[in-house]
Amino acid sequence: MTTAWHVLGAGSLGGLWATRLFRAGVPVRIILRTSERLADYHAAGGLGLVEDGQLHVYPVPVELPDASAPIRRLLVACKAYDAEAAIAGVAPRLIKGAEILLLQNGLGSQQAIAERWPKSRCVFVSSTEGAYRQADFRIVHAGQGHNWLGGPDHSVLPSWLAELGAAGIPYAWADDILGKLWRKLAINCAINPLTVLHDCRNGELLTHRILVHGLCTELGELLRVCNQAEAADGLEDDVLRVAEATANNYSSMQQDVRSGRRTEVSFLLGQACRTAQQHGLRTPELCGLLERLQAFLRHHRLPAD
Ligand code: NAP
Repeated sequence: MTTAWHVLGAGSLGGLWATRLFRAGVPVRIILRTSERLADYHAAGGLGLVEDGQLHVYPVPVELPDASAPIRRLLVACKAYDAEAAIAGVAPRLIKGAEILLLQNGLGSQQAIAERWPKSRCVFVSSTEGAYRQADFRIVHAGQGHNWLGGPDHSVLPSWLAELGAAGIPYAWADDILGKLWRKLAINCAINPLTVLHDCRNGELLTHRILVHGLCTELGELLRVCNQAEAADGLEDDVLRVAEATANNYSSMQQDVRSGRRTEVSFLLGQACRTAQQHGLRTPELCGLLERLQAFLRHHRLPAD
């Protein structure tokens, strides 16, 4: 019998994965946090995915964390700051050796989860796909992208990768998943906080080259002390390329702030500064940026972590 995918978090990315798996005939169950959310889901009539302007609604089965069926494969699609607590809510149902796929941006939450549930097999995912919530349980597939998957311990390829292909989820197995996550984190640190503080689109950072250069220099040093030299190569060029290619976009952190939502700063710039400190590396530009960003968030009555 095919193993069911339990999807924890039916937001943007969780919805994008769950609908594509479901319509490909892969057994999927969504875990919602409360009976109120269960009622909201039934009122919405299912999980909707908008692609190329067309909405399709899928009756993906839903359940609560305390359902009885054991969990063999868990796709965690919560924000980084919610992921560990959300898994704890279903932990009694995890079988020994269960696979836990972690879609979170940044770093820190994945390591905490892998340490807390050592009998599970964690797979880290670095996603460049884009999705947002148009309404509750209505997900818009906004940007084509890719998903890199890998084990922190260079583990063997899982047999279920073919199911992603069948579901049209673009993926590749990455032996250096930590390098991919570090590179994405570094690009985020060089772009997102500045777009919040300057209240600008990504492209405007091209007029702040000295600031970006200072951040990239420190980020490159940080990646090297973390044994991620490959992720440090050509970082500044890549940051400028991303800022140019997404010139008209608002960064995800900027969108969170504008919508009054908590950011994932603690797992992005916060994680970079903490890691530098652990290695005894001085990063005054990054630390100064974090302080300014946290002051800004507090001023706007948003969590600074
Ligand atoms: P999101 O739209 O806010 O969805 C998060 C979902 O998690 C929400 O539906 C929330 O439930 C649910 N949740 C939180 N705690 C839960 C719990 N205890 N039990 C069950 N569900 C719980 O977030 P997202 O944009 O999909 O982002 C998820 C992660 O993917 C983030 O780390 C993000 O950085 C990363 N990512 C996102 C994108 C993207 O385009 N969206 C791209 C790349 C990476 P409620 O609905 O009840 O609030």
